[in-house]
Amino acid sequence: TSFSPFILHFAADVVVEQNAACKPKPDPSTLVFGKQFSDHMLTINWSEKDGWEAPEIKPFQNLSLHPASSALHYSIELFEGMKAFRGVDNHIRLFRPMLNMERMHRSADRSCLPLFDKGEMLECIKKLVAVDQEWVPYSQDASLYIRPTFIGIEPSLGVSPAGKAMIFVIVGPVGPYFATGSFNPVSLLADPSFVRAWQGGVGAYKMGGNYGPTIAVQNEAVKRGCQQVLWLYGEQEEITEVGTMNLFIYWTNENGEKELLTPPLDGIILPGVTRQSLLDLAREWGEFKVTERTMSMKELLGALDTGRIKEVFGAGTACVVCPVGSLLYRGKMYQIPTMQNGPDLAKRFHKELTDIQYGRKPSEWAPLV
Ligand code: PMP
Repeated sequence: TSFSPFILHFAADVVVEQNAACKPKPDPSTLVFGKQFSDHMLTINWSEKDGWEAPEIKPFQNLSLHPASSALHYSIELFEGMKAFRGVDNHIRLFRPMLNMERMHRSADRSCLPLFDKGEMLECIKKLVAVDQEWVPYSQDASLYIRPTFIGIEPSLGVSPAGKAMIFVIVGPVGPYFATGSFNPVSLLADPSFVRAWQGGVGAYKMGGNYGPTIAVQNEAVKRGCQQVLWLYGEQEEITEVGTMNLFIYWTNENGEKELLTPPLDGIILPGVTRQSLLDLAREWGEFKVTERTMSMKELLGALDTGRIKEVFGAGTACVVCPVGSLLYRGKMYQIPTMQNGPDLAKRFHKELTDIQYGRKPSEWAPLV
């Protein structure tokens, strides 16, 4: 569905305007997710008439948008979330960034936003990170969060494809989700009356419209004494995702085999980069069965009851892995023995991925900026 005239040297055309008034960097121990931003941003404009303009790296600043911009009315908006890490060798690395570019491209296609060259887009992001390289924390517990965003800025109220669009990328330092080595388990609200995504919908795409409506449900979880939402789906109350993380279950299956299970990419699951990485690692290790299939609440509770659940954890860019300790379902709190079981597997995944991200273990998953 590409309808954009293409600029071949997208990244080579980047125009850089240096910020003359750089801010002091925050103390890494005080970082709050998503509140601090660096000195520069990347913007790339597109119009149906002229195609892509040269990308600009310029001082971090407010956007000026026509009030009829389609992003503001019809959520013609999508985003990505990725990180840059300062390694033990002081080199800056990304983590499997082409997977983010591919996901962004799929989200753009589904949003009728113009398509772009994924490799060129990544090169532009690398240039931004290089310009703001001093913002990549000097710490193996922190990183620079990268937020590519793509919005429709068509200045008209018709519900139709945007004739004007803008990609912008902002970045900011983020701290550790868990202090080194100490996982804190989260409690989940599993209430089948709330649905995040559905078959035929857009849950598999990283569109802003999928996220705004989850905030009230997250608040409900907190009101009921839980930390996050376990999203259920359909008649069978299939377990799908945890908050904004993919869900993994490590258990002894009905055949008595050790198995790592995660829901399949059947349209309602966001295809996480971390999810893919855990599956790839586990298959490479070949030490237990690795399965992508749905699991119902009934099956999960049955396995919990017979002591076959070892670890339940979320997986995402924010925390790598996040252990689940309990589950509130139909008024009853169920304990999950994730922490009692180490959690050996969750810890192993966490170490493996962070070793790669911080350059402690060489890997082609972590290209240099
Ligand atoms: N599920 C949802 C709904 C998400 O928003 C995210 C965060 N992108 C994930 C899973 C995890 O994806 P990733 O590993 O790419 O961060």
